[in-house]
Amino acid sequence: MAGTLHIIGGGMAGLAAAVEAAGAGKHIVLHEAGRACGGRARSYEDRQIGCRIDNGNHLLLSANKTVFRYLAMTGGLDTLTGPREPLFPFVDLAEDARWTLDLSRGRVPWWVFQPHRRVPDMRLVELRSLQKLMSAKEDQTVAECLLPGAFSRRLLEPFAISALNTPCETGSAALLGAVIRESLSLGGEACVPWYARDGLSETLVDPALAHLRVMQAEIRTQSRIGSLDIERGRITALHGPEGSIPLTDDDFVILAVPAPVAASLLDGRVQGFTAPDAFESILNLHFRLAAPPRPLGTFAKSGFMGLVGSIAEWVFLRDDILSVTVSAANRFAEQDPDELARTIWQDVRHACDPVLMEALPDTPPQQRVVWEKRATFAATPEQNRLRPGPATALVNLALAGDWTATGLPATLEGAMRSGVRAVYTLGLRSPS
Ligand SMILES: Cc1cc2nc3c(=O)[nH]c(=O)nc-3n(C[C@H](O)[C@H](O)[C@H](O)COP(=O)(O)OP(=O)(O)OC[C@H]3O[C@@H](n4cnc5c(N)ncnc54)[C@H](O)[C@@H]3O)c2cc1C
Repeated sequence: MAGTLHIIGGGMAGLAAAVEAAGAGKHIVLHEAGRACGGRARSYEDRQIGCRIDNGNHLLLSANKTVFRYLAMTGGLDTLTGPREPLFPFVDLAEDARWTLDLSRGRVPWWVFQPHRRVPDMRLVELRSLQKLMSAKEDQTVAECLLPGAFSRRLLEPFAISALNTPCETGSAALLGAVIRESLSLGGEACVPWYARDGLSETLVDPALAHLRVMQAEIRTQSRIGSLDIERGRITALHGPEGSIPLTDDDFVILAVPAPVAASLLDGRVQGFTAPDAFESILNLHFRLAAPPRPLGTFAKSGFMGLVGSIAEWVFLRDDILSVTVSAANRFAEQDPDELARTIWQDVRHACDPVLMEALPDTPPQQRVVWEKRATFAATPEQNRLRPGPATALVNLALAGDWTATGLPATLEGAMRSGVRAVYTLGLRSPS
């Protein structure tokens, strides 16, 4: 098969598309605007705290089939770490309770009948919320499907905010239902948590780039595509920093850029094109300690802990860094960042001190705040309707990105699935 496949955007969608298409007969050129690939899932040297950090903590579940397939293809699998069991330690700071959600591996949810493995004070009748979410209509919100009680407050609400990056009052129940269908409803085997041991780039980017180079793909960083020529129903040229790149009839394009960039390139030029236009932020605070703390119990085994009754939802421990994630963070945009950091540090102390060998300092240590303003599209029913499929009105263009219609919220799994699907849409490979 002659010709070139141009992939615009070197985030997870673009990289997954490149890995899928490599070896299918087209020359692959990946254009990434930034200095490095990875997009919203990347590691970098941070001068402020003097070490390498991730832009944000990313948690994967064993259910994320496309991500695990990508890691198997690129050789990144053994860079993951986690408890290797469906274990999730939690603390409720408002009600001073601690527990470990310990899911049964198989499909039968034995854990719900064993009080020491489930959410404390939950009632079995509350499990109906799961059914309601999984059968939710397109216009329903998460809040409309949750039955009041400990199961919602201590598990489903934090789970929804993390998975959708959108408050429960406005978040799409159908999207959360899709996540539950692909994870919790399949049993603990599908819910084993994993995260990058050394860094997101070391897991998700570097092995993929090494693999792509072996497959003779061309990776062009600092190559922002600023405009496209469109004639007679196809893209005929790309314009980047090196000038114009004419396309022949054998060339294809996968556009794997964030929604606002795709809109700036295509809006009003490609019939039927729509894209989400409302976004939610994620706040990550990385606290660098004087020495690596020594964790105990399930916190030691997992390396992370869920927080209920706190501004933050998760705290991760990696060596001497404690990293905290605040999802759906638009609601804190007006707050003074220093005050926010001080409040969060007090929550971190209360959450971690009982499960560390030595207590944390009273005052926040060196810290780095990473505020991803447009971390994901707002996963509301209205925004979900604006997500386009991979096929476009242009014969040689397919769309990818976590904001396209993947059926999932904006996640690594959704982003990678969209990249793979774009390759299928252009007919460069077919699903195996
Ligand atoms: C802080 C944070 C925490 C998260 N946590 C999780 C988590 O725990 N689990 C999970 O599954 N997901 C999580 N996500 C979501 C996940 O990171 C994203 O869904 C995924 O990385 C999106 O990938 P993408 O390729 O669709 O988009 P992007 O990562 O945005 O990639 C698009 C790429 O296109 C490039 N680009 C833009 N314009 C141009 C141009 N004109 N020309 C060339 N290149 C261009 C950009 O530089 C970028 O590299 C999190 C996201 C954030 C921000």
